[in-house]
Amino acid sequence: MAAEQDESKLSLLSLEEDLTCSICLSTFDCPVTIPCGHNFCHDCLLATWKDSYSCPQCRTLFATKPELKKNTVLSTVVDTFKGRSSKGEALSESEPKGDLLVRHVGQRGV
Ligand SMILES: [Zn+2]
Ligand SMILES: [Zn+2]
Repeated sequence: MAAEQDESKLSLLSLEEDLTCSICLSTFDCPVTIPCGHNFCHDCLLATWKDSYSCPQCRTLFATKPELKKNTVLSTVVDTFKGRSSKGEALSESEPKGDLLVRHVGQRGV
């Protein structure tokens, strides 16, 4: 892969969109993938699947309830992303103020 360091911030922004559930409009909580390839929070998806099973995003209709597979990769990315962006504060890569745990451990000198 080519080095794309200049675009790291851009790709983070688009990543946030990719990590956003189109139902609750926040980052995925336990993301699952359905057969059409879209991802939603497990709970959000189940909440929309009362009478019929369709994709809230592309509206693909499923005859039977699709098997929900937890997207472990996406889940990991979401966790990483949440840790990085620390509660909506601007991404400050030089001084991660929100990362108290690391700071704490660091000061204690492991
Ligand atoms: Zn959701
Ligand atoms: Zn879809």
